[in-house]
Formats: sequence, structure tokens, C-alpha cells
Amino acid sequence: MPRLILWDIDGTLVRAGEIGALIFDRAIEKMLGSAPGRRVLMSGKTDPQIVSEYLTQFDLVDAAVHVPAILEQIEIELATQAHEISAQGYVLPGVSELLARLAQEKGALQTVVTGNIAPNALVKVAAFGLDRWLNLDVGAYGSDHAERTELVPIAMAKVLAGRGLSFETDEVWVVGDAPNDLACARAAGVRCLLVATGRPSFEELGALRPDALRHDLHEVDEILELLLS
Ligand SMILES: [Mg+2]
Repeated sequence: MPRLILWDIDGTLVRAGEIGALIFDRAIEKMLGSAPGRRVLMSGKTDPQIVSEYLTQFDLVDAAVHVPAILEQIEIELATQAHEISAQGYVLPGVSELLARLAQEKGALQTVVTGNIAPNALVKVAAFGLDRWLNLDVGAYGSDHAERTELVPIAMAKVLAGRGLSFETDEVWVVGDAPNDLACARAAGVRCLLVATGRPSFEELGALRPDALRHDLHEVDEILELLLS
């Protein structure tokens, strides 16, 4: 049966560690002369959204003009700190086996739908060797659109253009850990599996009524069956 699996990265496949937040501090400090005073909540947001939120902490006449240069700088910051991801970060339970097993399923294609800009998404998954299972060229990224709810159609268009494959909405799963992952699935009418690996809690995510909810992905056989069902 055909299946398109669209993975969120942070909090779903991996945790990148403190470096994931530090690159924003460092990029903003480099471009604006001082680091932001406080951290913004990053989960479920795209990188351009995160940068825009940080810029509200600064007294800038036209904050939006700084976003592209800061995004370029976070790419540079992460590229030079890639070793920190494998040192501080980790792959979440079940993920490596699940990606490997799905890669062997005929008719199943898996890629990412993530708020990370594309180069940083690659750095984060490649730090743990997960890139070998993922068709990253047909993924959708924060660099494609600042609104996460726009990303599923972008990925599906790339899959059609790059692989000649089109999927019905009930053949597509978004797997994520944040309410925004569910929102981006709902916006495209596709199914959504949420994992309560951090905040929000299992109960909070359950109240949003995703198609499926798990504490994490460690029950590989069961998750595989669900995604292929
Ligand atoms: Mg996430």
C-alpha cells in the first residue's frame, strides 16, 4: 500500500541538545551586536518564525529585513558546531529501527516536514546517520515557507516532481511532537501521529485528538503497523 511518511525532526526523531537553541543566540549576537535576553519556545515553529519572535526583543524599526541574514548565520553556526549535536544530542527511542524498517517497505516513501531550514535539517539527521533512510531532497523545510501549515503540500509537490509519485491524503502521515505538527497535518487533510516525548504532555496532546498518540516510537512493530494501516 502506498504511504508517504513525513517526519518532524526535533523532539520526534532526535534531540539536538543545547546547540539547537545556542545557534540562534550566536547568530543574532553576530548580526545585531547583542544576544536575545530570553529564549523563545521553539517547539513546532519554523526557523524564520523563531528568528522573527527573537527580533521582537530588539528595538528595531524594520525587524523583518534582518531575518534572511540571521537564517544564513544560523546555518553557518550549526555547520561549524555539527560535532556538538552528536556529542550532546541523541536519537529518540525506536527511531533508527523504525526508519530502517520503513525504508524497506515497498510503496512507502519517507522524508521530513520540519521547521528547520534545509541545511540545518540535514546536519541534525546526518549527525546520527539517519539521513540514509530519508529522502531529504523531497522534504519540506522552514526555508521553503515560514508557515508550517504550508509545508505538507510543498512536500507532496516535491514528491510528485522528484519521484513522479502522488499520494491520497489518507495515505500520508505527519509524525510530530507538537500541536503545530497536528495543525500542519490538518491543514492538508492528512493523518497525524503525535509522540509525547517532551512538552506538551501526553494528556495535552491527546486533548487535540490526533489520529494516533504514543509516548514515543519505541514499540517499533506496533508503530510500523499503524503507519502502514
Ligand atoms: Mg518537533
